[in-house]
Amino acid sequence: MSQQPAQLSLSDAYRFARESGCLEGVLELSALPRLADVLASLAGTVSYRLSGFTGEREQARLRLQVTGTLQLRCQRCLGAVEEVLAIDSRLELASADSAPTQEELEDERLDILPVTGALDISALVEDEILLALPTSPRHVTCSLPATDGTDAEPHPFAALAVLKHC
Ligand SMILES: [Zn+2]
Repeated sequence: MSQQPAQLSLSDAYRFARESGCLEGVLELSALPRLADVLASLAGTVSYRLSGFTGEREQARLRLQVTGTLQLRCQRCLGAVEEVLAIDSRLELASADSAPTQEELEDERLDILPVTGALDISALVEDEILLALPTSPRHVTCSLPATDGTDAEPHPFAALAVLKHC
């Protein structure tokens, strides 16, 4: 696992786009603090590939691809729900002096990325993952955790057993 620069300065980011730069890396999930709330497990990594390109009018753009498998926390039973990431986002760098046109703002395939100071690659990967995740992850079928905490799956005859005691 090679060490990647964590940040690109604004001018480096523009040069990266103009020169069709490419960066690949792997990030530990535990290094992405804003994901901690939604993950059932912080073990694992995501892989990213950031490449630069330019638009028709030489606008500086980035393509960010992120792959990996996350264990989200089920909103119903709190167990792990597997989420396979396949993010492929296109972003246009926007600094204060290069305001996007209305046409670009309306282009849903392109997100505008306001950059002030520096571009933090792991924060960008984290942002794109958060945007891609379901807001309320759940298993297709699952049951609420048992109240006694010993058996997550209630025995099918548990209700009958209670009836016998009455
Ligand atoms: Zn569940």
